[in-house]
Amino acid sequence: MKVTIISPDLYTYGSMVIGGVLKDAGFDVVLTRELSADTDIVLLSLYSTLHLMDEKIRDFVSHSNRTVYVGGPISAYPDIILGELDADAVIIGEGEESTLALLNNGISEDIPGIAFRNDDEIIRTKPEPAKMERPFPLIPDDIQNQDIRGANVYIETHRGCIGACGFCQVPKFFGNRIRSRDIEDVVLEIKEFKRYGVKRIAISGGTSSLYQYGKSMNESAFIELLQAIAEVMGNRNVSIPDMRVDYVNEDILHAIRDYTMGWVYYGIESGSDSILKDMRKGVDSEKNIDAIKLAQECGVKVGGSFIVGYPTETPGDYELTKNFIEDAFLDDIFISIAEPIPETNLANMVLRTDDSANPTFTEHKGEYKILKLTESEARCFDLQLHGQMCKSMPGIVTDQMYQAYLKEARQQGSDVRAVTRLLQKYRKKDVI
Ligand code: SF4
Repeated sequence: MKVTIISPDLYTYGSMVIGGVLKDAGFDVVLTRELSADTDIVLLSLYSTLHLMDEKIRDFVSHSNRTVYVGGPISAYPDIILGELDADAVIIGEGEESTLALLNNGISEDIPGIAFRNDDEIIRTKPEPAKMERPFPLIPDDIQNQDIRGANVYIETHRGCIGACGFCQVPKFFGNRIRSRDIEDVVLEIKEFKRYGVKRIAISGGTSSLYQYGKSMNESAFIELLQAIAEVMGNRNVSIPDMRVDYVNEDILHAIRDYTMGWVYYGIESGSDSILKDMRKGVDSEKNIDAIKLAQECGVKVGGSFIVGYPTETPGDYELTKNFIEDAFLDDIFISIAEPIPETNLANMVLRTDDSANPTFTEHKGEYKILKLTESEARCFDLQLHGQMCKSMPGIVTDQMYQAYLKEARQQGSDVRAVTRLLQKYRKKDVI
């Protein structure tokens, strides 16, 4: 049986892991970024809610005449997937074991972690966590040409997060208990990626220093992990995408300085304690600023990400975020408009908020009125401009940058409106 895993636009780590599991089980499996139906079964790995509204993907699923199973991060909301795509089943959550069972036995209520239609009803079985030991991922030959924010690939060191951030689906997808891989397995896998030409890797999409959390020596295990990865890749070729500000200390930051490209990225999100509370971040602005200063004292560069347009964010809250950025002297700044990923706390907040009070839809009537932006778009645009001028190395905003920031704000605004409308559609159907 020929199985094609389609991971649109980029080879996600999850799609490579599933490919490796299937190859190890004897399937003739191919991983591609193209919508290709030259196969018996299609596994469509989707990571963005926007994929559900992509006409190319919708057409492909409708007309492929193949069995199509959908998995990936969006599988946390299978009812919406089955409402939008003409797929045969959804593989919910961690798919290593359920994908194998589905391919071997076909759709059945006995398989954990799948959803499928049965007449007018959607049957959904409870997902189970997968084992952390597994074969090598299926690595495509052109992986070295992939560039995801500077890295060829993001690799996984553990699953789960002890946080409960309201906009994030990681805890729901992987659970609150941290399950870590053995350092030896991670290192062998990295050597395999290197053999395929990978030059830059990023480790773990969640909070990296939670590696081996819950076990004694968790901190030294994380440092040992970084050191071992650096020995294979070279320290300037390793990056760590995200860290919680309450899970760093001097030893961890020194290890980041010594064994990685020397940057830490904090999800700061807001300068308003009231919004941080609404986001369920579990930290306040003081904790955020302390973690930034500590990293700077340890010789680590700091990137900070911020979210604007939370449903409860007032102009006053937004001003506090601008003030925070002025005080923080960050080395780089990333701005997102709050995206209500289905089944998150943020999605529930958005569904309870009337459009007339939701910055995603309200018209901006202030400084950028002439640009015809929504309030969220205006804040996203303004904060990018502000961030550029308040970084540790302030830069002049060129005309080209101004236009790029404006385009980015408009694109994000349009995407978040589309996702919000999708949510509202399924609330009306009483699915959510
Ligand atoms: S700490 Fe990061 S991974 Fe964990 S819930 Fe918050 S945003 Fe998600």
